[in-house]
Amino acid sequence: MNDPDCIFCKIISGRIPSTKLYEDADVLAFMDIGPIVKGHALVVPKAHYDPLSQTPDDVLAKVIAVVRRIAQAQQEGLGADGVNIHQANGAVAGQVVPHLHFHVVPRFKHDGHHWNWTPHPYADLSEAAALADRIKAALSR
Ligand code: AMP
Ligand code: ZN
Repeated sequence: MNDPDCIFCKIISGRIPSTKLYEDADVLAFMDIGPIVKGHALVVPKAHYDPLSQTPDDVLAKVIAVVRRIAQAQQEGLGADGVNIHQANGAVAGQVVPHLHFHVVPRFKHDGHHWNWTPHPYADLSEAAALADRIKAALSR
């Protein structure tokens, strides 16, 4: 399954060059061309799936296993002190390329990267509970 207009499908098929880290029959890992920290990698299924919610569990299992291996290799190979995993769904979430991908970002002491992680606290516990009820209702459908 391949989308002729998708940039990651073009990378997978070799129509666009990439710096590959790992590939098997189902998964490709390659270097992100615009790293937020040097060593930043992307892991994608070779088949065109998007978003996360539409991706079959067996495909996801194969992709996340490679995410773990890349994260471990960044620590062992680059001496990363930690790793962030990031995965965006939808333009509002910052997704630019609509082909499922996990960012694997090696982290180093003093790498200068800061997530814009600003808490927006609930007014009270009932606000969180009401939202939890809506999520749980959707889970049970
Ligand atoms: P997202 O915003 O989560 O959709 O991330 C898309 C990522 O794809 C960005 O981090 C880009 O730097 C990266 N990217 C786009 N084009 C290429 C390319 N040709 N090779 C490698 N990475 C790319
Ligand atoms: Zn694609």
